[in-house]
Amino acid sequence: MTQSNDNPGVKALMTAASEERFMALVTATSDVVYSLNADWTIMRELDGRGFLKDAHQPTTDWFNINIPQQERVRVRAAIDEAIKDKKIFELEHRVSRADDTIGWTYSRAIPLLNEQGNIIEWFGTASDITERKRAEELLQETNERLVVSNRELLQMQKNLEFRTAEKQEAIDRLHASERNVRNMVRQAPVGMCIVEGDPMYMTEMNDSFLEIIGRTRQEVKSKPYWEVIPEAKAVYKPITDNVLATGNTYRAYEHEIMLVRNGLPEIVYIDFVYEPMIDFLGKAYAIMIVAIDVTDKVLARRKVERAEESLRMAVDAAELGTYFINATDRIFNPSPRLKDFFGFKPHEEVPYEAAINQIHPDYRQRVADMVEAAFIKGERFDLEYPVMGFHDGRIRWVRGIGTMQHYDGKDFFTGVLHEITERKQDEIRKNDFIGMVSHELKTPLTSLGAIIQVADAKLKDNEDEFLSGAMRKAAVQVKRMAEMINGFLNISRLESGKIRIEKTKFNIVDLVNETVDEMKATVNNHRIDFTACPSTQVFADWEKLLSVLSNLISNAVKYSMGGTTIEILCESGDDEVTVSIKDQGIGIKSSDKDKIFDRYYRVENNNTKHVSGFGIGLYLSAEIIKHHNGRIWLESEPGKGSTFYFSLPLA
Ligand code: ADP
Repeated sequence: MTQSNDNPGVKALMTAASEERFMALVTATSDVVYSLNADWTIMRELDGRGFLKDAHQPTTDWFNINIPQQERVRVRAAIDEAIKDKKIFELEHRVSRADDTIGWTYSRAIPLLNEQGNIIEWFGTASDITERKRAEELLQETNERLVVSNRELLQMQKNLEFRTAEKQEAIDRLHASERNVRNMVRQAPVGMCIVEGDPMYMTEMNDSFLEIIGRTRQEVKSKPYWEVIPEAKAVYKPITDNVLATGNTYRAYEHEIMLVRNGLPEIVYIDFVYEPMIDFLGKAYAIMIVAIDVTDKVLARRKVERAEESLRMAVDAAELGTYFINATDRIFNPSPRLKDFFGFKPHEEVPYEAAINQIHPDYRQRVADMVEAAFIKGERFDLEYPVMGFHDGRIRWVRGIGTMQHYDGKDFFTGVLHEITERKQDEIRKNDFIGMVSHELKTPLTSLGAIIQVADAKLKDNEDEFLSGAMRKAAVQVKRMAEMINGFLNISRLESGKIRIEKTKFNIVDLVNETVDEMKATVNNHRIDFTACPSTQVFADWEKLLSVLSNLISNAVKYSMGGTTIEILCESGDDEVTVSIKDQGIGIKSSDKDKIFDRYYRVENNNTKHVSGFGIGLYLSAEIIKHHNGRIWLESEPGKGSTFYFSLPLA
C-alpha cells in the first residue's frame, strides 16, 4: 500500500473537480468507479457497468456481497488501516462477480478530506485483473515445477556426466552394430530385411528376401510393407505388432503361407525369425526379419515320407520281412514278419546270433560271411537259403537282399527277406529231376563213348573212308553231348548245394596248355594262340577250372566267324593271376553284359539264333570262380569281339 500522509492528489482533485467533469471522466474509464462514506459502510457505484453486485443502489452490505470469504480478513485490515491513516487504499484481492464466479480486482480508493482534515467521502476504482492473475498463477505453478525439474535435471546431468564417456562409447557401439546389422542384411545369403515406422516400410532388404516374397526392389520401396505383400498381412501383421509392442523375438519353422510371386499364387514354406531392434530406452523401434525359403526341403521330405509310406505298404502287401543292423553296435532289429520266417513269436526278443543259428548249417557260415562282407566291403547281400523254425522246426526257404545304408550319420546294414519255399521246392524237384536224368544219361553215354573210341581205333586204317570219318565225327558229338550233360549235372549239384570244390596246388600255365591242346583237337576252323606267363601256382579245383576255361574257349569259337583267331593270355600279378580269352566275334551289347552270367540267359538275335546252347555255361563258370574267391568279367564291342577275363588268388 502506498504511503501518502499529506495527500497532495486528493487536495488537487478536491479543488479541480466539478460534478459534471468528474462524471465525464468516470464514464470514459474502463474501470468500475464507486464512492464510499467515510467509514466504508455504504457504497455507491457510479458508472453502473455491473462489475459489482447491486450496482446503482447504495448498499450497506457491499463488503459481504463483493468480497469472498477467503479475502475478508485481509481486505478488512487494509480498509481499517486506510481509514485510520486517512491515506489511499490500494489492494489486489479476489472478488465475487455478478455471475457467481471469483475474479481478481485491483482496488484503489482516495479519501476526500474537509477543511479540518476529516474524511468526508472515498472515491475508488476497481480494475479487473483476473486474466493477469491467472497468468501469474500459472507462471508461478510452472516455475515451481520447473524448479523441481531443474533439480532433477541437474541430478541427471551429474549422473550423465559421470557416465558420458561410457555412454558415448555405448552409442558408438550401438551405431556401429546397427551399421553392421544393415550391412549384414544386404549381404546375407538368407532372406533378410528391416521393417520400421508407422505405417511400416522396408528400410533395408537383400535380394534373397525380395526373391522369397517375389517382389522387385522398386515395388517395395514405393509402398508400405503390408501394401507390398497384402496376402501376408492377415497372418503376419499381428505378429509384427506383437514383436514391436513386447520386444520379444518371434520364431516359426516351416510356416506355410500363400505368396503371390510374379503374379502367381504359390504355397511356400518359410523358416523365419522376427528380431526386434531395441533403442536406448529399451523400446522396439524396428524388426529385423530373417527368412529362409524351405519349400524345396519340406516338399522333398513330404515326398520321402510318401515314398516311405508306399514302401511300408508294399513291404506289408508283399509279406516281406525287414531288418536293420546297426554298424557300430551290431544290434539286430528284425520285423515281426522276419521273426515269423525264423519260427519266432512276433514279440520275442531275437538277437543276431539267435537268427543266424536258425539258418541251415550248410548255409550258416556263408550268410555270416556275406553279412560281414557287406559291413567291411559294402558288398550287396543277395542269397537264397533255408532256415529252420525255432519253435515249429519247419524248413522255410527265404531270399535275403540287403545293402549298407547311411542314414542320420550312422551306418546300417538293412534289407528285406521273403519266403520262397514253394518256388524253391519246385526248383529242387526240377533240379533233382535234371540231376537224375543227367546222371542216368551219363552212364550209357560213357559206354557209347568208349565203344566209339574202340571202333574209331579199329576203323582208322579202313578203306571205307565214310566209316573211318563217321567214327571221328561220332566221337566229337558224343563229347559235346557229355559236356552238356555234365553241365546239367553240375547245375543241379550247384543248386542243391552239392557242388564239391576239390582244391590242389598246381601251375595255372599247365592247366591252360592242357585245355588249349584238348580244344585244338576238336576245333578246325579257328586259330587258338596261347601266350603263357611265368609258372604261377594256384590252389584250386583242376577239373572245375578246366571246364570254365573250355567253356570260355568254346563260346569264343561259337560266337565268332571261322578263320579268326582266339588269343589266350595269362598275366600274373602280385596277389592274383588273370587269364583272358579274346575273340574277334559278334561281341556283346552293354545292355546284355550284366545279365550274361545269369542262369539260362542267352542273347537273342539273328547272329545267335542258329547257335545251340542252354545259357548255363557262363552261369556255371561264374559260380565256380566265385567258389574260388576269384572274379570274372568281360569287355566287348558289338561287331568287333569280346574278351572274357577271370582271375584267381595266388596259392
Ligand atoms: P550258351 O552259349 O550255351 O547259350 P553261355 O552261358 O555260355 O550259354 O552264354 C550265354 C550267352 O552269352 C550266349 O547265349 C551268347 O549270347 C553270349 N555269349 C557268350 N560268350 C560269347 C562270346 N564270346 N561272344 C559273344 N556272345 C557270347
